[in-house]
Formats: sequence, C-alpha cells, structure tokens
Amino acid sequence: MNTFMFYNPTRLFFGKGTLEQLSAQIPQYGKNVLLVYGGGSIKRNGVYDKTIDLLKSIDAKVVELGGVEPNPRLTTVHKGIELCRSENIDFILAVGGGSVIDCVKAIAIGAKFDGEVWDIITRKATGTDALPFGTVLTLAATGSEMNSGSVITNWETKEKYGWGSPLTFPRFSILDPEFTYTVPKDQTIYGMVDIMSHVLETYFNHTENAPVQDGFCETILRTVIDTAPKLLDNLGDFQHRETILYSGTMALNGVISMGIRGDWATHNIEHAVSAVYDIPHGGGLAILFPNWMEHVLDSGVGRFKQFAVHVFGIDPAGRSDRETALAGIAALRAFWSSIGAPSRLADYGIGEDKLELMADKAMVYGPFGNFQKLNHEDVLAIYRRSL
Ligand code: NAP
Ligand code: FE
Repeated sequence: MNTFMFYNPTRLFFGKGTLEQLSAQIPQYGKNVLLVYGGGSIKRNGVYDKTIDLLKSIDAKVVELGGVEPNPRLTTVHKGIELCRSENIDFILAVGGGSVIDCVKAIAIGAKFDGEVWDIITRKATGTDALPFGTVLTLAATGSEMNSGSVITNWETKEKYGWGSPLTFPRFSILDPEFTYTVPKDQTIYGMVDIMSHVLETYFNHTENAPVQDGFCETILRTVIDTAPKLLDNLGDFQHRETILYSGTMALNGVISMGIRGDWATHNIEHAVSAVYDIPHGGGLAILFPNWMEHVLDSGVGRFKQFAVHVFGIDPAGRSDRETALAGIAALRAFWSSIGAPSRLADYGIGEDKLELMADKAMVYGPFGNFQKLNHEDVLAIYRRSL
C-alpha cells in the first residue's frame, strides 16, 4: 500500500425517514438557506414539498435556485453565488443528483472567493473558505454526496473539468432509498455504470499488497452486477434501490481507495466528450471504459485476469492470461449492453469530426492516467475504438 491520510467529515444519514434530520442539522448553521435543485423531478415526486415543510418547521428563510442542468453549468454556479451574497445565505441545501450537488460545491466555495470561481475549477486559484452545505440525494451515481469532488461545465467554451477542495465536503448527506424510486430507467442505468466505473478507476492500479481494497472493489462490482437486472425489472423495489444507493456512496467516498492510486483516465476522457456533446456521464463511460481497457491491457494483464476471474467468474483453465483478461472485458461489455447501456459513440450520433477537439480538451493538463499514462495519440485511439 502507499502511505495515506484518510479524512471524510461528511455525516451520513441513510435509510427511510432520514429527511427528518434536516430539522436537527440545519439550525446549527443559521436561518438563511439557499435551496438548490434541478429541473423539477423533486417537485413531481414530492421530495420538494417534504423538504419545504421541514424547512418551515425550523423557521428557515428559504431562497430557491432551481433549474440546475444535468452536467451543471458555470452560468448556474454564478447565479447561486450572486444569491448567496445578495440574500446573506448561511447554508446551502442541495436536493437532487450529482449535478445539483456538484453545482452547490462550486457555489459554496465561489461565494467566499474574491475572484472568478472558474479559476478554482481550472486550478489556477485555490479557495480559502466555503459556505457550509448539506445534501439530500435523489439519484445513486456519483458519490458526490460523500466526497469533495465536483464537475462543472463551461458551456460557452465547451470545457468540463473535475475539481475538488478539502472545503467542499458536504456537512451532511441524507440518503433515503425511497427518494430514488422515481429515477427513470435510463438514469438508473447510467447511475449504475457510473458507480461501477468509480470502482474500476480505483481497481485498475499498480499498488502492491492491497488485498482488502481489491476485495471491497470486487464485492461492490459483483453486487451491482447482481442487483442491476433485478432493479431494472422493478424500479420501485426498496432493497434493490437501497443496495445501489449504498454502493454508489461507498464507490467514491474514499474508503475503498485508501492506500491506492487509482487510474481515472476514463473519467477524464469522458468529460471531454460530454463537454462537447452534453451526453450523460454514465452513458459515455459505458462506451469508453471497455475500450480504455483493451487499449491499456498490456500494462497489466495480471490485473485484468484477476478482474475477469473474481468479478465475472471467468474460468482461466485452458486460456492464456491474456485470453482470460480479454474474456473479462468482453463480459463487462456484454453486461452493460444487457442492461441497456450504450456501447458506441454512434449511439449518441457522435462521429469522427470532433475527435481531435475532444482529445485536445482531455489533454489540457498533460498526459494522464496512473495505470498507463495516456498521451494525445492514446486518447484518439480510444475514441476511434469507441466510434
Ligand atoms: P444528474 O445529472 O444529477 O441527474 C440526471 C437526471 O436525473 C436529471 O434530469 C434529474 O432531473 C433526474 N433525477 C434525479 N433524481 C431523480 C429522481 N429521484 N426522480 C426522477 N428523476 C431524477 O445525474 P448524476 O449522474 O447524479 O450526476 C451527473 C453529473 O455528476 C455529471 O456532470 C458527472 O460528470 C458528475 N460526476 C460527479 C462526480 C463527483 O464525485 N462529484 C463523480 C462522477 C460524476 P432533475 O434535474 O429534474 O432533478
Ligand atoms: Fe463518475
């Protein structure tokens, strides 16, 4: 293992009825609350009304910012920062999926920054303070509810970057599986692909001696693979929603990656695609991940073999290590296709014309990826395989 420091200050409330915790948590931070949400799903499924009732019961003065886009945009972050300043906001409450939470992270740090928040997102500046915020999660996918990361899109310049700060952990997150019942089938699929991808980004590493971490990763992957078809058959099943919701948080709250240096190239490659084409993050990952795997296979055949055997139960007998490894990648592709995830960029109408542009965007911070360093040519090759 590598030496590591683990820190995660987010207080997690998980299970039926945990929304009630809002009335105990929020008053610690003040009266003026900015309530941030997306395009209206919380109004349709009743989560908005329940939240407002609880906020009223503690006499909070609520200011609202709705309309956060999937792949949240810098323009919306700016609106939130202005509201925090003009309304003297004490606390921000994000109610929604990863996009709403990521947007709130940027608002929270931007509101306390005497400059342009995009400079923090593009790592030209560092925030020194942030407004406190909490989340009510309505979609299992990103893990943003219990990490300090955020991904923001500048739609004018077609750039999408991940960033994070020790100041942008949620103070608390409330996860009630019932709030995810109304997530439509496609978003449920994208969410499960994103969860698996976070685990895969962690799992493909060259760290020596991390058997517990390997086991955590393999267990989450097998659990999602086992649960996904059952959940897709019955989107209102409490236990399956609960399993996936918990998997999503555990996949990216730092627990499974202690002492490990994960890869994270595929996320970077995907962000460049959704910056240009505004496709769902999980959809892009389903297309790109197996192609990244085939591209980097020879950097660690043994790891891919372990993945094939431990996650998909591929029998290595009679196969070379490389054949076993390839069978594992094929099994991942087949699994994602079987649950209805896209498999080609063409599924989103993406052709050859902007591959160079996307590769340029992916390369903005130079070569990347820890399992295998990727340069411009590698990224282009992965996009081409994915067409
Ligand atoms: P999302 O973009 O937050 O939401 C996707 C869609 O699902 C929205 O249209 C939303 O509708 C709808 N939705 C959410 N909850 C719902 C519910 N309970 N019922 C019905 N519809 C619901 O999806 P996400 O996958 O959570 O977030 C994706 C973003 O997170 C991407 O920008 C991605 O790059 C980023 N990301 C962040 C991290 C991180 O660690 N911070 C990690 C991976 C990815 P409404 O807008 O109407 O609510
Ligand atoms: Fe992700």
